[in-house]
Amino acid sequence: MSHNTYTKRILIVGGGSAGWLTAGLLASQRRDWQVTLVESKHIATIGVGEGTWPTMRTTLQKIGINEDEFMHQCEASFKQGSEFINWAKSEGHRYYHPFSLPVGYTEQVDIVSPWLGIKDKVDFAHASCAQSYWCDRALAPKTASDPQYQGRANYGYHLNADKFAQLLKQHCTTKLGVTLILDDVISVNGATEGYISSVSTRDNGELAAELFVDCTGSRALLLGEHYGVQWLSKKHILKNDRAVALQVSHNTLQCEVASCTKSTAQAYGWIWDIALKSRRGIGYTFASEYCDFEKASKQLRQYINDQGLYVHQEAQVKEITFNPGYREQFWHKNCVAIGMSAGFIEPLEASALVMIELGAQYLCDNLPESDNMMDVVAQRYNDKFKYHWARIIDFLKLHYVLSERDDTPYWQSMKSDQVPQSLTNLMTLWRHRPPKHGDLDHIDEVFSSASYQYVLYGMGFNTLVDNPSITPHINSLFKQVTQVAQQGLDAQPTNRTLLDNIAKYGIAKV
Ligand SMILES: Cc1cc2nc3c(=O)[nH]c(=O)nc-3n(C[C@H](O)[C@H](O)[C@H](O)COP(=O)(O)OP(=O)(O)OC[C@H]3O[C@@H](n4cnc5c(N)ncnc54)[C@H](O)[C@@H]3O)c2cc1C
Repeated sequence: MSHNTYTKRILIVGGGSAGWLTAGLLASQRRDWQVTLVESKHIATIGVGEGTWPTMRTTLQKIGINEDEFMHQCEASFKQGSEFINWAKSEGHRYYHPFSLPVGYTEQVDIVSPWLGIKDKVDFAHASCAQSYWCDRALAPKTASDPQYQGRANYGYHLNADKFAQLLKQHCTTKLGVTLILDDVISVNGATEGYISSVSTRDNGELAAELFVDCTGSRALLLGEHYGVQWLSKKHILKNDRAVALQVSHNTLQCEVASCTKSTAQAYGWIWDIALKSRRGIGYTFASEYCDFEKASKQLRQYINDQGLYVHQEAQVKEITFNPGYREQFWHKNCVAIGMSAGFIEPLEASALVMIELGAQYLCDNLPESDNMMDVVAQRYNDKFKYHWARIIDFLKLHYVLSERDDTPYWQSMKSDQVPQSLTNLMTLWRHRPPKHGDLDHIDEVFSSASYQYVLYGMGFNTLVDNPSITPHINSLFKQVTQVAQQGLDAQPTNRTLLDNIAKYGIAKV
């Protein structure tokens, strides 16, 4: 094994959200490395991926983009969590998974047990989180005087994915010194010990680097095609593998802009409904084992009609095919895959962009300075991200397992078949006591036990505890939620009002 010290060049192949987020994080934090991105003029980006997590606020700050510029350029709106409609039963049921933590969670107070005693009066998300009340009224998580990236509650965004990649591209190339090459990569060239030495492009010759980031989407040109690293399909656990999507105008530009993603269960999958300032992005993800594109498009149009929205008969429905799963390894030799090339399960809980943020940040923090570090860093990265993907599968499967629906073979299968043992074990535990911090092993879990609490109790899961009486302290916590909720109801503008205000006056810098 050689012990070369690097010239420190990174080549990112692919210019979707994954490529540009990775470029932005690297170029802003690791000025000692030279970042080049090559993207095809001919191969389109996937063009979906409109819901982010609150982590995106930190990511954008690190990259150096102002919140108002981001919101304006990406037609973004504020997202405070997800609302799940008809997941537990096929009619008349809804619950929230808000981004803010349940009251008392940080101090490790068990509020679940006392809440179970009053669960017929108030659902868990409303009992424990003021944000739920604000989502009911499509309020913003902040006011016009709150500074950039700060709010009264934890929040992420809904955005236009194409415009997001454009903004990142413009920022990275003009402000962060990222070199952009518009070209097709046509082959990958190996060097000693299986390392990649360069990629060949159609018009720009060979591009050499010490580290290559494969952001070529589901094609995975470097890690998949060149190295042959296997894709581990998880379709036996989570069967959704198709989506149809449409962009629909608001009826008026004064209408409500929902501040959570609405996710409505359907016969063969579920429909996402994401409100931006100027339009809604609505799509149906479903399992091809039970439903085809035509049937899904019909159900999607029906949903849009039921929402009182109009979509032209001729409007082109975007059809997307994916194979839920992830790669056996994400980092091999001097190549790391980030984005759809590394893994994708399904859009539920919008965990794809956050995995990109996590992957790119890990890379920034652990760039190998010489090739004798490479294998160690790669191994650690692979272990960490394999763990993350397995936990994401557990958490997404939980949404189906808890359902009482059995109206179609799809639901019968999704809730009962192939439940991972790790999830079964956790659910056994939680039959006897509520989820708590230490139940999940890592400090940087993608889904914390708070998220499990929201979904479990939102779906009607029962934990068989003796309900402790509501002590004065617990009572004060429940009261705190309703007081904070009311303060927000009195003071916070609607998502729509705040977005209009930001467009006119921007957001305070400090
Ligand atoms: C139905 C659906 C809904 C989703 N919703 C969400 C969501 O709400 N939230 C979320 O976080 N995520 C969501 N995702 C995932 C999200 O869309 C992706 O994770 C994200 O867009 C990143 O994609 P990417 O950059 O990896 O790939 P792509 O967007 O496919 O980009 C690939 C890039 O590689 C380039 N390329 C390919 N081959 C070559 C070549 N030979 N030479 C040069 N360049 C090449 C292309 O030109 C393109 O620039 C969703 C995904 C699907 C399928």
